[in-house]
Amino acid sequence: MLGTGIIKGMAQTAKNFVGSYRDEQYLTTVQYPEQRIPAKENNRNFPFLVFDGEEAMPGLRCVACQICEKECPPQCIYIEKDKNKKPDYVGKAQVQPLVFDIDISVCMSCQICVEVCPFDAIKMDTEFELSQTDRFGGLLLDKHQLAKSNTYYREIHPTEAAAIDQTREEDVKKAAAKAAAKAKADAEKAAAKESSSETGGSEAT
Ligand code: SF4
Ligand code: SF4
Repeated sequence: MLGTGIIKGMAQTAKNFVGSYRDEQYLTTVQYPEQRIPAKENNRNFPFLVFDGEEAMPGLRCVACQICEKECPPQCIYIEKDKNKKPDYVGKAQVQPLVFDIDISVCMSCQICVEVCPFDAIKMDTEFELSQTDRFGGLLLDKHQLAKSNTYYREIHPTEAAAIDQTREEDVKKAAAKAAAKAKADAEKAAAKESSSETGGSEAT
């Protein structure tokens, strides 16, 4: 029946209003900002850049591939690549962003940048107290303002962060095994080359 939802909503509101005089569980609001309701795990607001370790800039996971910049619907991400490379978490040399800006006055919190990032380098924050007196410059965030630690990421999205940590740990193990296998193969190759040169030398004499 048309309007059933409205009637149900009004009934619930009346129940909470009357009930709040006798039981605190019917209070659906808090005295913000003194009291706060913790953000739910799947809450999202604007993106931030994840870094590993203690230092933000050396630890940034972003490799400036610019996929998020290309895919962002309102085009509010701006990236410039650095000429210098740095090793990533498995020791591979990767490009890093010289400039990484997000204009959060334009961002529509769609999370597409997060979905397309192959490096788990950009995630959605739950922070919402971002009001500024400068609505243009104040809402254009650079890489220093966007960088937040993996520890922080684990606090706000624990399930998602734990799954990513596990995948990355496995990647590190695989990379270490691959490097060990390569070192062994190189050593065997060098030993074989040495022995063949010794054999060739003795035959010649
Ligand atoms: S959340 Fe959406 S709009 Fe905001 S930066 Fe990411 S892709 Fe762009
Ligand atoms: S945040 Fe991800 S998709 Fe965007 S440039 Fe960095 S690595 Fe590439």
